[in-house]
Amino acid sequence: MPPTQSKDYYGVLGVKKTATAEEIRKAFRKLARKYHPDVNPGDKKAEEKFKEISEANDILSDEKKRKIFDQLGFYSDQIDPAQAEAAARGGYGRAGAGHGGQGVPFDFGGFDFNDFASQQAAGRQQQESGGGGWGGFRDIFSGIFNQGGREQPRGPEPGTDLEYQINVDFWTAIRGGTTRLQIQRQEMCATCKGKGATGGSQTCPECHGSGQVTQMGGRMKFNIQCPRCGGSGKVQHACTTCHGEGTVTRTEQIEFRIKPGTRDGQRIRLGGKGNAGINGGPSGDLYLVVKAGTHPVFTRQGDDIYVTVPATVAEAALGAKIEVPTIDGRAQLKVPPGTQSGQKLRMRERGVPSSAHEGKRGDQIVTVEIMVPKVQDERSKEILREFAKLNPEDPRAAMWAKV
Ligand SMILES: [Zn+2]
Ligand SMILES: [Zn+2]
Repeated sequence: MPPTQSKDYYGVLGVKKTATAEEIRKAFRKLARKYHPDVNPGDKKAEEKFKEISEANDILSDEKKRKIFDQLGFYSDQIDPAQAEAAARGGYGRAGAGHGGQGVPFDFGGFDFNDFASQQAAGRQQQESGGGGWGGFRDIFSGIFNQGGREQPRGPEPGTDLEYQINVDFWTAIRGGTTRLQIQRQEMCATCKGKGATGGSQTCPECHGSGQVTQMGGRMKFNIQCPRCGGSGKVQHACTTCHGEGTVTRTEQIEFRIKPGTRDGQRIRLGGKGNAGINGGPSGDLYLVVKAGTHPVFTRQGDDIYVTVPATVAEAALGAKIEVPTIDGRAQLKVPPGTQSGQKLRMRERGVPSSAHEGKRGDQIVTVEIMVPKVQDERSKEILREFAKLNPEDPRAAMWAKV
């Protein structure tokens, strides 16, 4: 078992020891966004990292906790700030470079460091020494070192959330429908009913029954209560189905409803469909992130539909009623006289029905694209020449005025 070094919370958040509260807050938020389990579904490493930065933030964002950490190089709720203060002033030799040279504030009287390694090798039980040093020390460290202990009775833990991306085609997102998806989620193990153990006990594989293991506190080694068995030296037989996890991974087909008007990027929450909780803890939720498909003619932005519609020179110049496509089929659009190419015309409430507000709809925005005729015959050319003579204004005049 690798020794646990005291933690470098500043390093974890990537900030200097002199960082302000604001700098710490910013660093944490940046990392939290990157490693949040919601953005990294099923990624155990990210989950671990997230726990690490959360712990660092918990200590460093709290003025009192940070002070204790700065003074001692570690933090525990059981340390009295006054005690830490006194220890930091008085010092207790060197406690390892990782602490920035701060002293460790405990009286180690009665605890023999020299003998420690050989005792451990021999598998002997470390004696509880008189003088109170070791007992107090263990109490203080137990909060730190027992984290991650597995075999101790665990309370109910809620299951983690899952997130999946679902591809929904253009029309289903607009009109609604049902979609299927295959997901992998952790379910409660049926063999052990989520307990992870099936009764009966065996010698703890971590401490080989001694109830204690070696840990590092700064540069010093300590005998601490085995985190796996809680010092009892025995652990319960792990369930063979789930290997003690209490949960098993299952592949599941789920079917769910897409509401009409569902948008690209929208998150659908299916409560309780995430990973199962442990020891009776509630299940997490399943989040589905919609990736809406596109359409060759219609472009959707929120609840609005954008479409580009060609018009003739005559229609644009004289005005006309033209037929345009909408998501409900063909519709009439009035093109006003003098419409320019690229001009946008709004068709109110011809867009997508809102999924958030019943009865509301977005608009359709039509961009008119004027098609210039390819003139072939003499008669048409004559008319255009005549038209030019009647309308001699220079369309570039306004531009030249600005150059
Ligand atoms: Zn053990
Ligand atoms: Zn099981």
